[in-house]
Parts: sequence; C-alpha cells; structure tokens
Amino acid sequence: MYELNRKLKDLVPYTPIQGEYKIRLDANESCFDLGRELKEKLCGEIKKLAFNRYPDPMANGAIAAFAEYYGVDSSLVTAANGSDELISIISSTFLESGENVVTLSDDFSMYAFYGSIYETNPLVFQKNSDLTIDVEKLIAFCNDNNARMLIFSNPCNPTSLGLERQDVLKILSGVNESCLVVLDEAYMDFWSESLLDRINDFSNLIILRTCSKAVGLAGIRMGFAVANKKITNALRAVKSPYNTDLISQKTAEVVLSEKELLQERAKLMTEGRKQLYEAFSEFEKTSQKISKVYKSSTNFVYVKTDNADEIFEFLLGKSIAIRKFKGFLRISTGTADENAELLKALGEIL
Ligand SMILES: *Cc1c(COP(=O)(O)O)cnc(C)c1O
Repeated sequence: MYELNRKLKDLVPYTPIQGEYKIRLDANESCFDLGRELKEKLCGEIKKLAFNRYPDPMANGAIAAFAEYYGVDSSLVTAANGSDELISIISSTFLESGENVVTLSDDFSMYAFYGSIYETNPLVFQKNSDLTIDVEKLIAFCNDNNARMLIFSNPCNPTSLGLERQDVLKILSGVNESCLVVLDEAYMDFWSESLLDRINDFSNLIILRTCSKAVGLAGIRMGFAVANKKITNALRAVKSPYNTDLISQKTAEVVLSEKELLQERAKLMTEGRKQLYEAFSEFEKTSQKISKVYKSSTNFVYVKTDNADEIFEFLLGKSIAIRKFKGFLRISTGTADENAELLKALGEIL
C-alpha cells in the first residue's frame, strides 16, 4: 500500500469560493477586464505567434514592458508563472532544509505553506494586536533566530496596512545580511512606498510584483522578481526554462505597455477603496456589527467583526462574494456600480 508522506497526507487543494456570483469582491482582482479594444489588439498580436515553438525562456518582451512601466533595469527582472511560482522557487532553492524562515501573522498564507512543504523551518512573528508591525522587534526576532529568509507583503494582504519606506529600509539595514528579505509588493500599485528604486542598495533583497492585481491579468499568471544581478542570475538559472508561456508573455507585454490606461484604472480602484473605507468607518460608528476597519493602502478593505459569518452569508444571498477570515472580512473594491450595490446590501444588514 503506497502511503503519502507527512507533508502530503492532510493537504487539500486550494479552492476559491465556488459557484456563480454576480459581484466578485473576494480575490482582490482588478474589477476591470481589458476591454474590447485592447483584446482586439492582443488577438492581433497572438495571431502572429508560432505556437509550435517553445517560448522565450527569459520572457524578454514581457520583462522589457515591465521594466519600462516601473522604471527598473530589465537585466534585474525575472518573469514567472505568477508571483506564486516565485515564492515557491525562492523557498525551495534559496533555503536549505531546516533553515529558519520568518513569516508574519497575519500575512499571505502561501509563505508559510511553501516554507513547510520544502522542509524549511517557518517561524511566525506575531504582529501587534492592531495588526501593525513592531519593526525593532521583528529585526531582533530575525537576528536572534539566525533567519535565512524573511518574507512579507507590503502593503499587506489580508490586513491592507502598509509599512512606509523608511520602516522597510530600517528592516533591511537591521537584519543580518545572511538573511534574504523577500518583499512582496503585490499591492504597491495602489500605494507609493515601493523600494524598487533601491534594489541595488542591498545584497539580500528580492522584490516581487504581480500582474494579477492592479494590472488586471490574474487570468494569465504572470509575476516578476526584481533583485540585484547576482540574485537575478541565480533565479534565472534555477527556474524551469519555459516557466512562462507564449500567450502570457505576449499578453503581459501588450498590457504593460498601456501605461496611461493602467494608471487610470489603478487610480479608480484606489478611489473605490477609499469609498469603501469611508463607508465602513461610518458603519464602525453606527453598527454594533463592525468593530473596526483598517487604514487601507490596497484595493481592498479589511474589517474586524464578530459577525463575519452572518454578513458573509447575507451578501452571498445577494450574489455578492467577499472573503471571510476568522473574525474578519476582506472586501475588494469593485466598479462604482458594484460598490453601490454592496453598500446598499450592507446598509440592510448593518
Ligand atoms: C494576490 C497576491 C499575489 C499574487 O500572486 P500571483 O501568483 O502573481 O497571482 C502575491 N502576493 C500576495 C500577497 C497577493 O495577495
């Protein structure tokens, strides 16, 4: 009888919310699809591709468009099948088994997941009760534990809170240089505290970005790592050669070249989130059911509530999907119409 090992036997596949809902505010995706014009343009480009050939292993077209959009040097960028793949590659190759990886709680759950699958030793640093990060304590925690990697999201999913540049710089200068710092800036398009321009100032820094959120391409799976030359060479060498496919590469290239459109949409989503934040600040005062809404630097709001199940189910009944955590709700901004419908429904239950 074949037995699954300890790591596998209790795992269950990741299943996002099932079913058809009219309004999807559960996964922090962009609320904007590409639009007809851009899709037509993309189809024109895709028609020209040779599908019988392997794709460019270095995804140069996509990387050039990314580098141009964010003002970084393209020789410091690695493309992958979503930033999720980068988290997996980094966790499995920059660490040896048993080495300490520091993750934060609450933060993106994939960090600790890969840490444990690859037999490293994930150590959890607890955030303050208001979900902020005590930077000095975090630095000491990493150094006292001889951490070989620290990984966290900024701004944070799920808390929506952001750490300012000066605080992240403090972490980078405070932790031992033997500790790789993986800074996941998946939501930085909605804020302005990126460290992309400081990438060459640190020997131990990797910044992750994704096309899945503000760029509106969750469907194609494309993420990028930005790091110094030495780390980039290692990442490019260790990834599987054809990790990003022809269509994803071309799609990222075409869409990332639409600078004005993307910036306009990011601005609209930031405004939508502000509207949700303000509405929840009001509910916080007027409804027993909302304990707190956190100050968001992302395209979603994070809400503390003792009535998470009740609110979640009520909204599902109205065909509005949001994300539920224990004692919290996370709600991505939708279009103006979607937000209006959400707030109308919330008005009924709160
Ligand atoms: C959504 C998200 C990502 C994106 O992952 P992809 O694999 O690029 O879709 C990465 N990190 C965080 C914190 C996220 O919330």
